[in-house]
Amino acid sequence: MRLENLPIVKDEKDCLPLFIDQRELILKYQIPVSDIYPFFEGLKEGKILAPKCSTCSRIYFPPQSVCPFCKKSEMQWIELSREAQLLAFTQIIVKPQSFQDEGDYYVGVARLKEGINVLARVVTDKRPRVGSKLRLEVTKNNKGNLVYCFVPID
Ligand SMILES: [Zn+2]
Repeated sequence: MRLENLPIVKDEKDCLPLFIDQRELILKYQIPVSDIYPFFEGLKEGKILAPKCSTCSRIYFPPQSVCPFCKKSEMQWIELSREAQLLAFTQIIVKPQSFQDEGDYYVGVARLKEGINVLARVVTDKRPRVGSKLRLEVTKNNKGNLVYCFVPID
């Protein structure tokens, strides 16, 4: 119930007044990527690269330049395998601002052969199945930028 001339409604649970407002937020950010630049060079060649710690052999994806376990930045770049198994997914219906012009889509977490879990969009018209096989691929997003995504194999 809206109170007269005020942007206030009553909370359905406890009937206390709630202030209602709506505004657009523009989020801009810049992230230094010089330490993980090989990842972007890999995308240009259709490869998905990840840093592997030279000391403990842990692989980091999304890429990061320092191993939090060893506290060292000696990394070697490896190409990730493409086959993955879907662990979980969700359908995105309420989209962030930068995806407003797109239809509903799926985002999933899948495990690669290397034992790392990757979060990425699952490009499919059908509802994905947990446990199904996916392929990690390089593609272009709606702005023409190279990104990675999962595509069902079967
Ligand atoms: Zn390490």
